[in-house]
Amino acid sequence: MLSKQWGESMGDVLEKLQQQLEATQRALVEAEARCARQAADHRATLEASEQARSRVEQEIKLLSTLLDNSSDAIEVIDPVSFRFLDVNDTECRELGYSRKELLCMHIFDIDPNFSELTSNLLEQQLRQVGGARFDSLHRRKDGSTFPVEVSAKMIETDKAYLFCIVRDITERKLAAEAMAASEKRFRNLVESVSDWVWEVDEQGRYTYCSPNIKDMLGYEPAELIGKSPLELMPVAEAARVAGIFGLAVVERRHLKDLVNITLHKDGHEVIMETSGTPVFDADGTFRGYCGIDRDITERKQLERQLESQAHTDMLTGLHNRRYFFELAELELARAKRHGKQFSLLMLDVDHFKLFNDSYGHHIGDRVLQKLSEVCMRTLREIDFPGRIGGEEFAIMLPETRGERAMEVAERLRLAIADAEVLLEPKDRSVHFTVSIGVTCFEVADMLVDDLLKRADKALYAAKGAGRNQVCSKDGD
Ligand code: GH3
Ligand code: MG
Ligand code: MG
Repeated sequence: MLSKQWGESMGDVLEKLQQQLEATQRALVEAEARCARQAADHRATLEASEQARSRVEQEIKLLSTLLDNSSDAIEVIDPVSFRFLDVNDTECRELGYSRKELLCMHIFDIDPNFSELTSNLLEQQLRQVGGARFDSLHRRKDGSTFPVEVSAKMIETDKAYLFCIVRDITERKLAAEAMAASEKRFRNLVESVSDWVWEVDEQGRYTYCSPNIKDMLGYEPAELIGKSPLELMPVAEAARVAGIFGLAVVERRHLKDLVNITLHKDGHEVIMETSGTPVFDADGTFRGYCGIDRDITERKQLERQLESQAHTDMLTGLHNRRYFFELAELELARAKRHGKQFSLLMLDVDHFKLFNDSYGHHIGDRVLQKLSEVCMRTLREIDFPGRIGGEEFAIMLPETRGERAMEVAERLRLAIADAEVLLEPKDRSVHFTVSIGVTCFEVADMLVDDLLKRADKALYAAKGAGRNQVCSKDGD
């Protein structure tokens, strides 16, 4: 009985032990599986971090290659001590120091402008806005300096870094200085010449006027900015110039010596000679014109004076022989072309020599002047008299036929006979007479000389008939 009970209880114990063993084995299998999973996770994590590290290394390598090859110098600076923490190859090359040397220096050693004051201000600005851009100087190892433009940025990670990109601006400075010098030279030149230099935009409105406009037209340059040159001209002149200038603008053509009339601020006319050249910007877009205006009023007056002197007989103020013949040939050509009529008078003072001999040469001169006065008073505006010899005159009567010409000659003869020349003292005077030969244009006439010969013949006849007469030989 007892052994049966013991046998039963041993069996229970064994079964329990068996169960415990199985449970332990299962737990062991599960633990192994968990360990295997964790090991796999761990390996995956390790691999991922290894990949990330190599990526970062590659990026760092790429970045430092980029920084070393940058044409700008790069400085990484401690914002508290202003010591260099790193520099790129360009910085070393430009300054002539090795990287090792620079990493033992700070910004004060290479930037003569970098004082304590600047560093405080810079630090303040960097803290407030995170970045700054300023011009400064950098000093090379050999002591020479060069101008730089610095772009500084504060970068904060585990600690703060001042990251500076430094650009050598020697060439830019030299170009700016050269530009300023050339602009100064140009301005001096523009302001010293007596001509007026201007610029207009695409709409033809002044964008620049040199100061001498004040002497030329009485305006301050500022008064003309935004105005068109046409606004300064009389209406008809503005219309004429607008046509010429408009065409030049359309064809983008130079304007050369365009003579025009511009009004001074006080209203009087100024004759200008304008030259200009079209202006294009860097894209080739038309931007207006720049040019120069010259006051040629005096020159034009002198030209007119000289021209008039070359045409005028100084004693009488009438056309001289050469100019009279020039105009008479034109009249002849016109008459031939358009089938028009005209007449020619030849006029000679009677016994003129006597006046000279009796009263002196100066009274003879006055006789000639008086004769000219009477001619101007008596004739129409289209008629033109000329002094063709000592006391011989010719008169052209355009659009006048024979009988009418005789009437004009007769009226003139009477007016001359009526005129008096005062003698010295002026209480005495003398009268004088003229003989006149008249002829009319004939279709066969080729030269004015052909008419002159006929008129001379008629004059000779008038002299022969007793002087103080009008005679025509036409129709003989
Ligand atoms: P006739 O009636 O036949 O024409 O006689 P005349 O005396 O007018 O003619 P003659 O040809 O003999 O004289 C012309 C004179 O005119 C001679 C010359 O000295 C004079 N004479 C020519 N030019 C001038 C001048 O510019 N001024 C003066 N005062 N005399 C002049
Ligand atoms: Mg004569
Ligand atoms: Mg005479």
